[in-house]
Amino acid sequence: MDLGISGKWAIVCASSKGLGRGCAEALAAEGVNLVITARTQSTLEETADHIRGKWPVEVKAIASDITSVNGRAEVLEACPEPDILINNAGGPPTGDFHDWTIEDWQKALNANMLTPIELIKATVDGMRARKFGRIINITSSAVKAPIDILGLSNGARAGLTGFVAGIARKTVIDNVTINGLLPGPFDTDRLRGNFEAVSKSSGRPIEDIRKERAAGNPAGRFGTAEEFGAACAFLVVTRRAISRDRIYYWMAGLSRVHCKEINQTKVSNMRIIAISMTLLVTLLFITSPARADVTGVWSTVEGKSHVKIEPCGDKFCGNIIWLKEPQTAAKVDKTDMKNEDPKLQGRKILGLELLSGFEPDGENEWDDGTIYNPEDGKTYSSSLTLVNPTTLDVKGCVLMFCKTQTWTRVK
Ligand code: NAP
Repeated sequence: MDLGISGKWAIVCASSKGLGRGCAEALAAEGVNLVITARTQSTLEETADHIRGKWPVEVKAIASDITSVNGRAEVLEACPEPDILINNAGGPPTGDFHDWTIEDWQKALNANMLTPIELIKATVDGMRARKFGRIINITSSAVKAPIDILGLSNGARAGLTGFVAGIARKTVIDNVTINGLLPGPFDTDRLRGNFEAVSKSSGRPIEDIRKERAAGNPAGRFGTAEEFGAACAFLVVTRRAISRDRIYYWMAGLSRVHCKEINQTKVSNMRIIAISMTLLVTLLFITSPARADVTGVWSTVEGKSHVKIEPCGDKFCGNIIWLKEPQTAAKVDKTDMKNEDPKLQGRKILGLELLSGFEPDGENEWDDGTIYNPEDGKTYSSSLTLVNPTTLDVKGCVLMFCKTQTWTRVK
């Protein structure tokens, strides 16, 4: 399947190993050309060779420190107009905040907040002018669930998240999305290094610590760099309909908590939707591109009729444009016989407005509408959910009682 990103260029920072490499490989698999970076030339070249050998993409390997002015300049010289920017760098050390000096804080802020901001500043205007851009900041689940010993990380990455939430609202109009990918524990050198440190300070065997931590994850294991890369590529190819201010937690085979109408302190209208993810990764969607498209012709249940959904003013409506059985046994056009209003009982079913007054609500939902059912002559309050481009869930409710039908796209 062509995901529409083949031939584009991505800068993937800090990507000779771990999560950055996971993103780089997942993008290469979709035909994206890469600039990959890391400080250690040998490992970086090995990774570049591996990717070149596996996928037919161009790979430029820039050995530089992405947290330095010169390091970033080298990367931008290699790719001044990237379509995709994956911000990443090593994380700050763990510790006790009493021990951290102002220099420790400056280092953490530089690496995990100011470096991504500088790279965004250097690339985002070009992306906006070209009407395509995907920026992903690899941060940490500590942004949403701070951990005391990761104070430097909590602070720097939360600062980046706050900054990005502001500018993402401006860039999305030009099809430039900026998202945060907030990993939980993934099996990389970084995680293994953390276990070594805990083992050293506690005197406990590293394997025990590893098992204990893995068991604490809903999946009973850690995520892999490949799985993380898949989430990364997903965010890059997401073209439609994830509006701003959405937070999704994807958790190890548990659930996706979908929060709407989020502001700084308040989360409202929460729904829990079961999903079958096997990794532990938290995604913060700050913005994404335009809304999904519900317009078109839809086949109702059992293909009894076709309904054309189209805009009516600033809302959406749907008319019956085809009926499997348009006439009665007596060979006369079917009319709205069951309508509670006798004056309307003579109107033809074909051409009837079935759906009325739906307002967009989020990326793939339309709410506050009504659906008329000619089979019982009643009107129900209704909402529409575009499950995927060819599947529409149509919900009709009376008071608390709701029924959902699935319609299939014809055109
Ligand atoms: P990793 O496996 O240790 O890989 C880090 C990569 O970044 C390596 O390629 C490394 O290469 C490169 N790198 C580090 N500092 C760099 C710099 N200043 N300039 C350029 N490249 C640099 O780490 P990871 O697990 O993928 O972690 C990536 C980020 O996600 C880190 O910020 C980490 O704190 C965060 N994170 C990880 C997890 C997890 O469970 N793995 C969870 C939450 C957050 P060189 O050393 O050769 O430069």
